Amino acid sequence: MRPLKELVRPNIWELSPYSSARDEYKGVTATVFLDANESPYNTPFNRYPDPLQLEVKAQLEKLKGVPQASIFLGNGSDEAIDLVFRVFCNPGKDNVVAIEPTYGMYAVCADINDVAYRRVPLDKDFQMDADALLAATDENTKVIFLCSPNNPTGNVLHRAQIVKLLTGFSGIVVLDEAYADFSSAPSFRKELDAYPNLIILNTFSKAWASAGIRLGMAFASPEIVALFNKVKYPYNVNILTQKAALDLMNKRHELNDWRNRILHERATLMANFKLLPCCKHVYPTDANFFLAKMDNATKIYDYLIRQGIVVRNRSKIMLCDDCLRITIGTPQENTSLLRALRQYSV
Ligand SMILES: *Cc1c(COP(=O)(O)O)cnc(C)c1O
Repeated sequence: MRPLKELVRPNIWELSPYSSARDEYKGVTATVFLDANESPYNTPFNRYPDPLQLEVKAQLEKLKGVPQASIFLGNGSDEAIDLVFRVFCNPGKDNVVAIEPTYGMYAVCADINDVAYRRVPLDKDFQMDADALLAATDENTKVIFLCSPNNPTGNVLHRAQIVKLLTGFSGIVVLDEAYADFSSAPSFRKELDAYPNLIILNTFSKAWASAGIRLGMAFASPEIVALFNKVKYPYNVNILTQKAALDLMNKRHELNDWRNRILHERATLMANFKLLPCCKHVYPTDANFFLAKMDNATKIYDYLIRQGIVVRNRSKIMLCDDCLRITIGTPQENTSLLRALRQYSV
């Protein structure tokens, strides 16, 4: 890895961050707070939230096996993705490299930040060729984006290829593990110490069943997390979200239960999907969704909409011709989908 200072935008490296009232007061036990121009009347939201979300991170440290100094929390993973661009990529000059197809937010954030986005196609099994990604980099490539299990393909990327990039690329590697809770493949969280250029993304939006609270996690070296904290909005995670996250982590047996039910339903739904005359192929998955090649995906998508069922039409995406992406729902929802498709087929 190149020295962090060479990878970070000079203005960010030099930045003196905003210092909030709650940043400046630390440690002492105080009872009278007249420092932040808050209202004294307890709504109960009159106080600003903890800018560093330390209570949430203390729980996450145990749960994820990552020290607090290596945890960043944001307004969804999307905030962390945007921060990667704002911290590392000089607009109009630097570029990033990513697998294709993958999660659409990386390219959108690149466009917003005026950073060139280089797409390297996966192979027909949706696996990546680390050498092809390395060949797409140049001296202005700051970041490589990977997603495993990948969205929309559902598969995990081969571990050896990921390691090859982590060791062979001198910039930052972002590994989005939003769906890792549904996979039997081990997370790279345990490898953070070995790879100082690794940023892992996780989210409360999928397995934690809490897309509505907007809470995303990034795990990285304390130096990278410190850079994210310097650039983020001072109070980027609100009190309601922090409270909801603490409550969720206290009932995590339910998480296991939901995950097991989703995995069970996934197997049933995929087995039935393969039998549908309108389905040509079901791709293997390690996520809470799967990709299916259909006999005319757009026609089937429109038909399902008329039945009040919404799936994701991915047929315009590279390597996903005629593919629908199906999220695993409740047994009732999955049955409704199958029933509609059986009627379509006859
Ligand atoms: C759903 C998803 C996320 C989650 O984003 P949030 O902003 O945390 O809701 C992140 N990455 C991928 C690949 C996803 O599919």
